[in-house]
Amino acid sequence: MSEISVHINDGPAAQITAPVTVAEALKRLDRDVAKQALAARVNGHEVDLAYSIEASENGDAIKIEPVLPQTLAGLDVLRHSTAHLLAAAVLDLFPGTKLGIGPALLDDPRYGFFYDVIAPRALTEADLPVIEKKMRDIARRNMPYRRDEISKAEALRIFAEREEPLKCELIDEKAGEVVSVYYIDGSPFIDFCLGPHVPNTNRLRAFKLLSLAGAYWKGDAERPQMQRIYGTAFFTPEELDAWLKQREEAEKRDHRRLGRELDLFSIQEQYGQGLVFWHPKGSIVRQQMDDYLREELVKRNYSFVYTPHLAKRELWQLSGHEQNYGDSMFAPTKLEETEFRLKPMNCPMHIGIYKSQQRSYRDLPQRYAEMGTVYRAELSGTLHGLMRVRGFTVDDAHLFCTPEQIRREIDDCVDFAYQVLKTFGFEKIKFELSVKGSDTSKLYLGAEEDWAEAEAALAAGLDARGIDYQRMEGEAAFYGPKIDFKIEDAIGRLWQLGTVQWDFNLPERFELEYIGEDNKPHRPVMVHRALFGSIERFFGVLIEHYAGAFPMWLAPVQVAVLPITDRINEYAEQVAQELRAAGLRVEVNVRSDKIGAKIRDAQLQKVPFMLVLGDREIEESKVALRERTKGDIGTMPLAEFMEMARRLVESRAITNE
Ligand SMILES: [Zn+2]
Ligand SMILES: [Zn+2]
Repeated sequence: MSEISVHINDGPAAQITAPVTVAEALKRLDRDVAKQALAARVNGHEVDLAYSIEASENGDAIKIEPVLPQTLAGLDVLRHSTAHLLAAAVLDLFPGTKLGIGPALLDDPRYGFFYDVIAPRALTEADLPVIEKKMRDIARRNMPYRRDEISKAEALRIFAEREEPLKCELIDEKAGEVVSVYYIDGSPFIDFCLGPHVPNTNRLRAFKLLSLAGAYWKGDAERPQMQRIYGTAFFTPEELDAWLKQREEAEKRDHRRLGRELDLFSIQEQYGQGLVFWHPKGSIVRQQMDDYLREELVKRNYSFVYTPHLAKRELWQLSGHEQNYGDSMFAPTKLEETEFRLKPMNCPMHIGIYKSQQRSYRDLPQRYAEMGTVYRAELSGTLHGLMRVRGFTVDDAHLFCTPEQIRREIDDCVDFAYQVLKTFGFEKIKFELSVKGSDTSKLYLGAEEDWAEAEAALAAGLDARGIDYQRMEGEAAFYGPKIDFKIEDAIGRLWQLGTVQWDFNLPERFELEYIGEDNKPHRPVMVHRALFGSIERFFGVLIEHYAGAFPMWLAPVQVAVLPITDRINEYAEQVAQELRAAGLRVEVNVRSDKIGAKIRDAQLQKVPFMLVLGDREIEESKVALRERTKGDIGTMPLAEFMEMARRLVESRAITNE
């Protein structure tokens, strides 16, 4: 026994008698923290609360950093421990099950952890509630997670005896001479694991099993096929409920399903994964996006350009894309003696236009904008609907200007992004300023003072607009600092969209110049900027944000004309013609369905307005109006409706108020 000095984080030190467990030490230092802690770091090492602190060799104070709820480290411990609980339940219910790995997942929005198993019989979805119930039983019985340290030989013997060949393989590969194993006492579970874990099972109160999928041991199709049980866990039942609700809501809004139901787009295996077909109705939305952006670009004095989809391989070597980005590019294709590569980005193409003639300071800024289609060699496993594809179009622009002009250009980009995202109905926009930071081990191009100036200009652009932003130290691209925009959608999810990026690299590589007032050549500043980012992805976000019910100005069909009987069809066509002449997108439903079915159909297609036409409407030259969410809103002359519709479209209104 000896006295040691311990402190929590950088708090005051206290003298206590060693050896002492972390749990006991915390209790002496701060009862609240002791109650909440899931695990801890002692002098930087992650340990369980049951870890015994011995007297320090040199007598220095011992630092305990508790791992607390509502932190990422805490979530890691919680989910990892829940994965063990899952394995314990499976072993209890299905003796003889072989265990693979069971990590926590912190970055995957769909799952919180998994465990790979080979059960004596194939598990089905129907087993999940049963396993979950068993997990609750074990959790309630408050069984301790117990760590043991044994020799490698002993560990191999234990797992061989338990007929766990996969665990033996892992121990063989990864373990040193001493192996840490964990038990959940009172359950058949034992795992080869470094920890740490929660002290006992009743700390796990908010978890749910989500799904079952096939998996291979070590991802190798030649190795045993396993089943992966996915679940998630949170600190409180309230958090779990909120997450489950959001998940359910997200499923309803899934752009892949809505894309099919509303006939907006498709991706067809026969043509190739990750390649998007925009159907007529999806194309209308895209055209509205294009038209709006074009209007704004004209106001802001951009020049439109069109550039090729591929270029000589040497070009991509000169730009550095082949060296830095080659893995994401499609392989070269040869014609005669020349190799070509599809473009993964538009930047070098716009540089080609800049370089086509000598520029004077009077010509600057040059602002080139293009709906530039690019191709990326994404692996099939990473593709996801419109969100991750192999061919997509960027609302790309590159600005070439003098250092004196840059501040104004940045201001305009920030302003532009703000306006565009608001117009599409995103009220909550987050800005991030990624700067170089203090980590000198990362390689950055460009002079120190240029970076300082560039970062200051970007920050000033945000500050001038009173925009709240997060400064991301060390997150800048190697070629310059940048601003990223993220929007929060209708159900609170964040999406990364466009970006404004400074570039010290390409102007150097391509030796860009302009002739200054002093008649000498100078290097221009280059800025990359995209507002939507990928048009495909932005469309996917829009579909999910609006759950397919687009605002009037974007809606593929704005008005459904619904005659009550066949007698009215001719009048209905007349009305539709008049609406079309006014520029509205109209569909007439002349099928011989009942009016209720026609209304339902238009509702399902999420058409903003329905005009219901019967004999009375003909007589009075009026239309009976229904709005998608409000239902009947009364009868009015056609001209009155047209005026309202025109106002909604022209103002690009988000709601039909
Ligand atoms: Zn573990
Ligand atoms: Zn670019």
